[in-house]
Amino acid sequence: MFKKVLIANRGEIACRIIRACRELGINTIAIHSEADRESMHVKLAEQSVCVGEASASDSYLNIPSIIAAAEISGADAIHPGYGFLSENTYFAEVCEACGLKFIGPSKESIEKMGDKIAAIELMKKSGVPVVPGSDGPISADGPKIFAMAKKIGYPVIVKATAGGGGKGMRIVTSEETLQNAIIMAQTEAKAAFGNPDVYMEKYIEEPHHIEFQILGDKYGKIAYLPERDCSIQRRHQKLVEESPYHLINESLRKKMGKSARNAASAVKYVTVGTVEFLVDKKGHFYFMEMNTRIQVEHPITEMVTGIDLVKEQIKLAAGEKLSIISEKVKILGHAIECRINAEDPDKDFIPSPGKIGKLYLPGGPGIRIDTHVYSGYTIPPFYDSLIAKVISFGVDRGESITRMQRALREVEIENIKNTSSLHAKIMGSEQFRQGSVSTDFLSKHILGK
Ligand code: ADP
Repeated sequence: MFKKVLIANRGEIACRIIRACRELGINTIAIHSEADRESMHVKLAEQSVCVGEASASDSYLNIPSIIAAAEISGADAIHPGYGFLSENTYFAEVCEACGLKFIGPSKESIEKMGDKIAAIELMKKSGVPVVPGSDGPISADGPKIFAMAKKIGYPVIVKATAGGGGKGMRIVTSEETLQNAIIMAQTEAKAAFGNPDVYMEKYIEEPHHIEFQILGDKYGKIAYLPERDCSIQRRHQKLVEESPYHLINESLRKKMGKSARNAASAVKYVTVGTVEFLVDKKGHFYFMEMNTRIQVEHPITEMVTGIDLVKEQIKLAAGEKLSIISEKVKILGHAIECRINAEDPDKDFIPSPGKIGKLYLPGGPGIRIDTHVYSGYTIPPFYDSLIAKVISFGVDRGESITRMQRALREVEIENIKNTSSLHAKIMGSEQFRQGSVSTDFLSKHILGK
């Protein structure tokens, strides 16, 4: 097992990883930017190193500085968390070249899943169902593009090959707007990922976003865990997740779980990852992508299975054998996660950084809070706006929703506009309670646009 792990991240996930390390008897080194000196992860870790100025490119994305910090502090492994360098093949490669274990899959696995077109190709070969599409990058000019869209059938969706966070996507309902949508998606993709390549696929109407957590060891064993429903999204970004997906039956769960396992096997996956699917109204499912890291929403799976995913991830990276058998994993209840963002839901979600006054976060039966904020903490304007995850657990979906409603009522974050009121609206909505919500639920029924 590792003796010292450097955490190349910040915020709630850095705190989560430090806690897992502590339970495994591993010392931790936090890195931080100049803006994050007072951050909770710095206080929780045994050691800390400042790696650069406030902007992420100078600090949390600054590979030479991070590697130097690991070397001077005697780390033997690096945990990248999510976002930042977690899916950066170059970083994974540099870590390994410097004798630092990258706590994640191999560089080859990240590479194969990072390019969405290549990943779709590989999935097809592995017998995993995929959305019908262009099977390669497309360009806006030429008559071919119209024929292709017609063959796939409108509506279609144009997506960035290097995509992430819902960026570089355009839904196209008719021929008139196709070329323009491709150009816009290319421009957005270039700005966000430095790669303008986009592809086209069938737009699945009113789908559910269902994903499977997978775990793999270096001896080739792969397990999948019960699914998460992440259909409540704003601009293709998740806001609420729950587990299990209450519209699934045991046979569909097994089929999808096995597909997820095949997807992971195809890239010889080690540690933890997530295979994402879209499920249409008829219950057909299609591979969308694989995220080769721990996900924001991992706690709901931990709550319903009793498995500590971050500890498992570290143990698998250290070369331990996987002891989980998918078919034997029991679903202990129902869990929901609400992402509390420092954003103003009444003003088009503009970020709301600043100094927190009084802070009261909920507790009591069945409530877990993953956060890095505390009373008097200043939320810096430089990073993402996630400030806390409220996770509720109950014997069934009804109890989990009621507990979440009770918990959201207790949230008080003085001076900071945040999304807890929006979550209260979602939890109270009859449609959500009945459970028939697909990815357009938030825009159609809650935000009203
Ligand atoms: P990203 O990597 O940017 O998160 P994904 O491929 O994971 O992109 O898609 C994000 C979300 O976009 C999905 O959860 C879904 O809501 C929507 N989406 C993506 N592809 C399709 C599709 N073919 N049909 C319908 N919705 C889609």
